[in-house]
Amino acid sequence: MKKVCAWCGKDMGVHPSEDNSERMITHGMCEECINNVFAGSRIELGTFLDTFAAPVLVVDETACVITANKQARMLFHKDLPDIEHLEPGDVFECAYAKLPAGCGKTIHCDGCTIRNTIMDTLQSGKSHLKTPAYLHTGTPDDCTKIDLLISTERVKGVVMLRIEIVGSNEKTQR
Ligand SMILES: [Zn+2]
Repeated sequence: MKKVCAWCGKDMGVHPSEDNSERMITHGMCEECINNVFAGSRIELGTFLDTFAAPVLVVDETACVITANKQARMLFHKDLPDIEHLEPGDVFECAYAKLPAGCGKTIHCDGCTIRNTIMDTLQSGKSHLKTPAYLHTGTPDDCTKIDLLISTERVKGVVMLRIEIVGSNEKTQR
């Protein structure tokens, strides 16, 4: 089985398919990328994240966003201090995260592919590649549905979340 890093695209060589060690299950990410995630300072991590063309968020074990790359900050029109320690739904401006219960605690959250994918990767270490997901931005009564492809990777207790926007529908009145 030939593996390619899901993040930088580097050829990771051929791995025997019967190898079921944790490495095989968890890491669609090459050694170099893994080392770069925790190379040292926050500045080095930021520089590494900025090398990706797609928006990338880093989420901690409590599902709070720790940091985001330049592309993600542009996408969400937020500066780093406004992103750090927010729930993902608040970064995404999810319509349902604006409900009083907040991101992860509303009746809509059980079916949220973004949250479920992050939590699955946090708990099981399983990485996801280009999982179709969607997001409603705006308010619960007047929202725009945005189609996304999300990729996740657990690295040293945090989850890297890559977001690719597939398209958005016209505003839908509900
Ligand atoms: Zn890589």
